[in-house]
Amino acid sequence: MAVMANHEVDLFVIGAGSGGVRAARVASAHGARVMIAEEYRVGGTCVIRGCVPKKLLVHASRFSDEFGDAAGFGWSVSEPTFHWPTLIGNVAREVTRLESAYTDTLERFSVALVKSRAMLEDAHTVRILSSGARIRAETILIATGAWPHYGPKIPGLEHAISSNEAFRLSELPRRIVIQGGGYIAVEFACIFAGLGSQVTLVYRGENILRGFDGDVREHLRDAMRRRGITVTCGHTVVGIEQSGDEYVTRLSDGSTIAADKVMFAIGRRPNLMGLGLDAVGVKIAEHGGIAVDAYSRSSVENIYAVGDVTHRVNLTPVAIREGHAFADTVYGGKPTPVDHTNVPTAVFAEPEVGVIGLTEAQARVQLARLDVYKTSFRPLKATLSGRETRSFMKLLVDGVTGRVVGCHLVGPDAGELIQLVGVAVKMGATKADFDATMAVHPTAAEELVTLREKAKSYSREAAE
Ligand SMILES: Cc1cc2nc3c(=O)[nH]c(=O)nc-3n(C[C@H](O)[C@H](O)[C@H](O)COP(=O)(O)OP(=O)(O)OC[C@H]3O[C@@H](n4cnc5c(N)ncnc54)[C@H](O)[C@@H]3O)c2cc1C
Repeated sequence: MAVMANHEVDLFVIGAGSGGVRAARVASAHGARVMIAEEYRVGGTCVIRGCVPKKLLVHASRFSDEFGDAAGFGWSVSEPTFHWPTLIGNVAREVTRLESAYTDTLERFSVALVKSRAMLEDAHTVRILSSGARIRAETILIATGAWPHYGPKIPGLEHAISSNEAFRLSELPRRIVIQGGGYIAVEFACIFAGLGSQVTLVYRGENILRGFDGDVREHLRDAMRRRGITVTCGHTVVGIEQSGDEYVTRLSDGSTIAADKVMFAIGRRPNLMGLGLDAVGVKIAEHGGIAVDAYSRSSVENIYAVGDVTHRVNLTPVAIREGHAFADTVYGGKPTPVDHTNVPTAVFAEPEVGVIGLTEAQARVQLARLDVYKTSFRPLKATLSGRETRSFMKLLVDGVTGRVVGCHLVGPDAGELIQLVGVAVKMGATKADFDATMAVHPTAAEELVTLREKAKSYSREAAE
C-alpha cells in the first residue's frame, strides 16, 4: 500500500513471519487498526526458507530408502533417478502459493501490509525505509526473527552458504561439507545424503544435537554414520579455499576435504540490526534476544517482541503462540502469559527424532528420584526390507510422583508421535496412565505403553 506520512495506527508490527502475522491478524480481529512491515517475503522464515520447504526436501530425500526397501516386499524398481531442478522448482512454487495465502489472510483481516524494511524512530514512531514515511503507533510489536550466524571470520568464509541459500541451489552438490551440530545442520546432512550427495558433517563439540538427551544424540549419530554420512566431531572449519569448481575446506586438525558446496549451520542470532532499539531504550537480554516478560512486553512499556527475536524457544509454533497471546493480552482483554515448558519438538533427520520434557541429565539434577525406561528395537518394516536400522524410545519418570517428565524417540514418524505424547505430558500423565492405555498393535508407538522394566533408577540420597 502507499503509506502516507503521519499515518496513525493502534499497532505496528515489524516482520511478517510466524509471530508477526498471527499477532497482526488477531489484534485486528479484536478491533485494532494494524499495519505490518515486511522487508522480504510474507510468511517469514518458516514458510519461505525454513520448516515448510525443509520438510518438503526431507520427504524428497526419503524416497531413496523407500525404493531400496521395496525389494524385500516383492517390488522390483528400476534404477531410480533424481532431478534436483524439478524438486527445487516444485518447492519454490509451493512456497509462493503459501506466501500469497498469508498475504490474503492479512488482507482479509484488514491488516495494512507495507513491503519495506522498517525501524523505530522513537517509542511511538516507525520509519518505513523505502518511502521515508513515519507511522505513529500506540503499540509496536517487533517480530523480526533470527538470521544465520557464521561464527568468527575465517579465510574463505564468503564461499560458505547458509540454509537460506540451500533452498536455491541450481544443482545438487555431489559432495557437501556442513559445519554445525544443531537440528538444521543435522537435517540438511540427512536431506543431502538421502538425495545422493556425499556428506561430511563437521561439529566442534563432542557430539551432535547439543541440549538433547545423550542416548538420542548417540543413537542418531551412529545411525547417520551407518547411512554413509561422515560425522566429524571435535573439529571446526578454519578455512575454505576455492580451487576451480570445488572448495577445499580446512579443518582445525589440519585435514582437508574437497567438496562442491560448504554450508554453515552453526546457529541463528536474533535479528536486531538497524532496528533503532538502543535509542528507544529496548533492553537486550544476556542471550542476545530482546528481553521480555511473560506477556512479551519489552523494557519499554508500549513495545513488545515475539518469536526468534526474543530468543526464548526458537520454533514456529512458539512464535505463533506468543503472537496470539500478545494480541489477546493487549487487544482482547485477556492477559495471556505463554508457558514455555514441555514444548514438544522434532528433528526431521533420518531416522527422525521427537522429544519433550527433560533430558536424563536434567532430570537427574532436578528430581529426588528418577526412573528411566528405555528400549531399542528393529522396526517391523526393517525385517523384510533388511535395512540396518533401530528405533529408540525412552521415558523418564519422576520416581516420587510417577509423572512422565521426559520422552525421547528416534525412529519413523517420531515427530508425529511426540505431538500426541506431548498432550499426555502436558496434562501431567503418569507412567501408570501410560501403562493403563491399551496398546495399538502392531505399531512402534505401542512400546511406549508396554515399557515394564526400569533400565535405571537414580535417587538423590543414593548419589550423596
Ligand atoms: C532451515 C530452518 C528450518 C526450520 N525448521 C523448523 C521446524 O521444522 N519446526 C519449527 O518449529 N521451527 C523451525 N524453524 C524455526 C522457525 O522457522 C522460526 O522459529 C520461526 O520462523 C520464527 O518466527 P518469527 O516470527 O520469530 O520470525 P520469522 O518467521 O523469521 O519472521 C521474521 C520476518 O521479519 C522480517 N524482517 C526482519 N527485519 C525486518 C525489518 N527491519 N523490517 C521489516 N521486516 C523485517 C523478515 O524478513 C522475516 O520475514 C526452522 C528455521 C530454519 C532456518
